[in-house]
Amino acid sequence: MSNIDPDTVPGIDPSIVAALIAARGNAYAPYSRHPVGAMVESESGARFFGANVEVAHYKGLCAEASAIAAMVSAGERRLYSVYVIGPGEHLCSPCGDCRQRIREFADENTRIQVLDAEGSLLKRYTINELLPDAFGPENLSY
Ligand SMILES: [Zn+2]
Repeated sequence: MSNIDPDTVPGIDPSIVAALIAARGNAYAPYSRHPVGAMVESESGARFFGANVEVAHYKGLCAEASAIAAMVSAGERRLYSVYVIGPGEHLCSPCGDCRQRIREFADENTRIQVLDAEGSLLKRYTINELLPDAFGPENLSY
């Protein structure tokens, strides 16, 4: 299913997987029936969780956006890592909007990990791989 070399990519800590599955379990996804959980780890090492929150007008909030909002609301501004767990075996990679949100608080050391439903790592990205040549905060400092 994945093309990850197990010798170079360590498994995800089981406690993180359990917490991600719990976060995904709190998703409110009655319309898409596609629950997603996310965890972001800030520069300080604090962990913030999120789940997708849908609403009837279809302008819901993604799990990654939810977790980033929790981090920022706690006063943190730098993303050390991002984990996303979807409901199936497919690659539940961050949507375009979430890539830009991650970009806002990421740097070249930030890693974004996408897990399958059981918590196995499917793919790991840098923000530049997810959103190359991205517009970011420095583009506004002229
Ligand atoms: Zn998204």
